[in-house]
Amino acid sequence: MEDNKFTRTLWILGPYLWPQGQRRLRLRVICALFCLAIAKLANVFVPLILGRAVDSLSNLETTPNLFFGIPLAIILAYGFTRWTSSAFAEIRDALFAKVSQNAIRQISLKVFQHLHALSLKFHLDRQTGALNRFIERGTRAIQFLLSYVVFNVFPTIIEIFLVCGILWYNFGIEYALVTAVTIGLYVWLTFTITKWRIRIRRKMNDADNEASTRSVDSLLNFETVKYFNNETHESTRINSALKTYEINATKSRESLAILNIAQAAIVISGIVIMLIMSALDIKNGIITVGAFVAINAYLLQLWMPLNMLGTVYREIQQSLVDMENMFTLLDEDPDIVDTPHALPINITDGIVRFSNVSFAYQKDRMILSDINLEVRNSQTLAIVGSTGAGKSTLSRLLFRFYEVNNGMILIDGQDISKVTQKSVRQAIGIVPQDTVLFNDTIYYNISYGDPTASSEAIYAAARTARIHDFVSQLPNGYHTRVGERGLKLSGGEKQRVAIARALLKNPKVLFFDEATSALDSNTEKEIQDNLKELSKNRTTLIVAHRLSTIVHADQILVLDQGTIIESGTHRALLNFDGKYSAMWKEQEAGIKKTKIQLA
Ligand code: ATP
Repeated sequence: MEDNKFTRTLWILGPYLWPQGQRRLRLRVICALFCLAIAKLANVFVPLILGRAVDSLSNLETTPNLFFGIPLAIILAYGFTRWTSSAFAEIRDALFAKVSQNAIRQISLKVFQHLHALSLKFHLDRQTGALNRFIERGTRAIQFLLSYVVFNVFPTIIEIFLVCGILWYNFGIEYALVTAVTIGLYVWLTFTITKWRIRIRRKMNDADNEASTRSVDSLLNFETVKYFNNETHESTRINSALKTYEINATKSRESLAILNIAQAAIVISGIVIMLIMSALDIKNGIITVGAFVAINAYLLQLWMPLNMLGTVYREIQQSLVDMENMFTLLDEDPDIVDTPHALPINITDGIVRFSNVSFAYQKDRMILSDINLEVRNSQTLAIVGSTGAGKSTLSRLLFRFYEVNNGMILIDGQDISKVTQKSVRQAIGIVPQDTVLFNDTIYYNISYGDPTASSEAIYAAARTARIHDFVSQLPNGYHTRVGERGLKLSGGEKQRVAIARALLKNPKVLFFDEATSALDSNTEKEIQDNLKELSKNRTTLIVAHRLSTIVHADQILVLDQGTIIESGTHRALLNFDGKYSAMWKEQEAGIKKTKIQLA
């Protein structure tokens, strides 16, 4: 399983390490590898040179005048080699940074684009916060894997072999063997203890996630918390997650101490054994004091990257999981896909027709049954009905967020499931029931309908939606920021921004889903007068609860539990004396009562 993950990750990351068609990046990879080789080679020779320096210095007693000769040269060589090693390691990182940053950008972009290509159903089933965390952690994991695995783990393994070889060649096989055994034990111990520590770490991460989810949810519901005076309840909930985190974070630090102590014991034992061996060899005249220093330096030098081994091992494991999580998002297939070779829809009049449409979100609960309707150019169709009857569902189907289970939806005689989604969506402008705005300026939010539109076009749309005067008298005008989800605007202001945005898109079909429900009657009337003008040469569908707003419609449909039970003009439906007429009378009576009370 883990091997699978590793190969899969390498398989996915590989192409980014050797980017196709990007000669400059490839050149950087080659140069980085070259720098890596130089840095490592220099590093491997540092202890040897240090040993030579010690030896030549011990000879000074016999030949003191030679100081400005060989000893000084060796000391300078030692300094130069050390510097070369660290300088080339830095150049290597600097060169590779562009390659890894490019990989991160490409992969993040791919995941982001993929998420936007997935269906509404997928997003409704997922928490946006969780998706964001997947991406954040996934990209961090890529950065880690690229920098550590490529430039830390593999080079360290090579360095170990090189050092063993040098020790063998210069001082004898026993030195190489002790080094190999010490490192073997060290690696085994580190992996064993780290596996145990990963479990603690996982609990710590879970608690951290829990605490942050609760905190975000609680802050998002700031007003609700205040309405119910539930601050204590909220802090108790967070505190329990924070406590779990605290316990596990403490355990994690304690276990790190155990790991470090055990690692030090092994390394120091190895060093002591080798120093005793070399001391004996010096005594027997086999090696010099310089060799003694060099051997010590080798082990200390190897210990530095190995010291990070536990963390690197744990992080690699974690990174593989994080990357896997991110890549499972890429495996997710969109529910709605264009048919092969689908062409863009050809819009002429914008005639919308639902033909025997049936639909269910879940298998066993039918939402719409056998819906037939037609709206012609310059006509307005109004849809009314009790809450949950399926009115908004009609707009989601028209927008092709879901596929119908039966029947078909046609625009200008073309089945929308046979043409490209993009072209269908381009042809329709929707003002949804709950307007959610981007946390940006009013200008940006209106211009979202057509990012290429001129300022004049944006102001014109705002005027038609009756929001221009309001915006103009704001201190920051169109540059006023609307806050998270647009919450700094009132319900009616948000709706008008949404109307302006839809109008700016200039679509052939307009769908207003309770688009004016939050407005006062005067503003609503003004907008409607404007819309009447606009709906000429367009097709308009309106979902409304306030029946007085749709009396002018060419056709009114009454939807009840997913079926059309009445249809006709306002007059015809009143004469029919059915559900519509009952709803009308009820609303009229309500208005009269309010007027009397106000009088
Ligand atoms: P309202 O007047 O309250 O806005 P509506 O007629 O617009 O109601 P719809 O939003 O179309 O109602 O919803 C119709 C039914 O479908 C509702 O019972 C709702 O609970 C259900 N529904 C809506 N969206 C989903 C979904 N994504 N998954 C499952 N059921 C859903």
